[in-house]
Amino acid sequence: MTFTSHMDRALAQARAAAERGEVPVGAVVVSPSGAVVAEAGNRTRECNDPTAHAEILAIRAACAALGVERLPDHDLYVTLEPCPMCAAAISFARIRRLYYGAQDPKSGGVAHGARVYAHPQCHHRPEVYDGLSEDRCAALLRDFFEGKR
Ligand SMILES: [Zn+2]
Repeated sequence: MTFTSHMDRALAQARAAAERGEVPVGAVVVSPSGAVVAEAGNRTRECNDPTAHAEILAIRAACAALGVERLPDHDLYVTLEPCPMCAAAISFARIRRLYYGAQDPKSGGVAHGARVYAHPQCHHRPEVYDGLSEDRCAALLRDFFEGKR
């Protein structure tokens, strides 16, 4: 089986988020057969919702579309290392593989900070693959924050 990265779609969602004035992070949920089930970008400003991160919105949309509570055997692509909240949500959703782009030493919760999946309390750990399209993911965030100053 050949590996197809869905990071380009996650990046497109991140760019769309930047155009809305949101922090440019995008996420895509992919089914076991490789079909995109849901995709989302950050909408915390638009929704006045601090939990409206791309990963949370994509997981919610995927569960709603499929009428299920969890997403076993599904994969999630996200342009930035998930924060602790999203890392926990990814675990609760039983996501099989987590692919992310840029590292987030400041707010990440997978390889940094809380390291959610390293705790014994964590009952489901996705396989984690980092550094996918890392340069493009990081450049998008850098450009966004430099534009703000
Ligand atoms: Zn998050």
